[in-house]
Amino acid sequence: MHTVTDIAALQHWLGRYRRDELRVALVPTMGALHEGHLQLLRQAAEQADRVVVSVFVNPLQFGPAEDFQAYPRDLETDARLLEAHGTHLLFAPALHELIAPDRPSTFVEVPDLGEQLCGRQRPGHFRGVTTIVAKLFHLVQPQVAVFGEKDYQQWIILRRMVADLNFSVDMQAVPTARADDGLALSSRNAYLNAAERTRAPQLYASLRQAAADAAAGDDLAQVQVRTLKRLQAADMTPEYVEFREAEHLTSPRAEDRELVILAAARLGAARLIDNVRFTRRLKS
Ligand code: AMP
Repeated sequence: MHTVTDIAALQHWLGRYRRDELRVALVPTMGALHEGHLQLLRQAAEQADRVVVSVFVNPLQFGPAEDFQAYPRDLETDARLLEAHGTHLLFAPALHELIAPDRPSTFVEVPDLGEQLCGRQRPGHFRGVTTIVAKLFHLVQPQVAVFGEKDYQQWIILRRMVADLNFSVDMQAVPTARADDGLALSSRNAYLNAAERTRAPQLYASLRQAAADAAAGDDLAQVQVRTLKRLQAADMTPEYVEFREAEHLTSPRAEDRELVILAAARLGAARLIDNVRFTRRLKS
């Protein structure tokens, strides 16, 4: 594995790959890698000759009161894990390589979709994500890019960006990797203390129950209220629980069968997100 921290060095290796007509997969991350990220790497390795991973804690996707400074960083451990899992090129740019000192003046933004759900709670978050992922796509020009379904709204927004901007990249999603008790793996789970960690799986358990009830035909609004109460009973502070159509994240219409339930909830210092896709049986 080669580790590069500046764009010139990145281009050096990418130029070689291109000369050799190698297929490149990109896996963008913010580091503090866990098994969820490793699933993405496995998928990338299956799809391409060269796996490029970026590790960049992107300040543009953090709000002013959020955890940019506290976000876990451990590049040495990340590099060891990446090397052990078949990464060819690690791009770990310094801040100034991707962002001008006084914030960029050009943004890539998917309007509307980016302002809902997590975007309502975190104004500017998705604009920060799409701006940096667009820059990474321009720099790396991968044939394949791999993302996690854990960040379901992000996945749908990035797919929209790729379609709207005519990036020719094959976008692939990997199912959410979970702990044995169901909690979605996340670098931010490190913020949970022991007592919170035992309650945290309630988020996924509640969403699964909600998805099962909705799949069986229960009224979505009633299920939503039940789910919010269940999260509160587990001492979480839900930010939202919402049903959406699974492909476009529009509000479910009576005839929509493929749905997703998405939620964000605060638990101690952590903000947890999760989602469950399901198929609804329609009453005839
Ligand atoms: P992050 O480092 O949190 O920005 O995540 C980088 C990529 O890994 C994103 O595409 C995430 O959706 C994905 N990811 C994070 N956690 C998981 C997980 N538990 N399962 C699958 N993918 C994940």
